[in-house]
Amino acid sequence: MKQAIVGYHKDEESHWVARLKCGHNQHVRHNPPWMVRQWVTTPAGREGKLGVLLNCVKCDQNAPMDWITPAGNVSD
Ligand SMILES: [Zn+2]
Repeated sequence: MKQAIVGYHKDEESHWVARLKCGHNQHVRHNPPWMVRQWVTTPAGREGKLGVLLNCVKCDQNAPMDWITPAGNVSD
């Protein structure tokens, strides 16, 4: 299911993680030459991708939300 990027944070290994509107996280690694996402390395690049739709596999799997608690609060 396509979901919009609404924010970002870094994981324990300093990889960028997009927060999707559905409450799931999705890694947006810049790991050339396999994964080239130069935009994720700059604040302006990340800002420019807000609202862009990513395919969320977790939605398709009915996975629990990652950054929104069951009560609807934002959690880290
Ligand atoms: Zn999702």
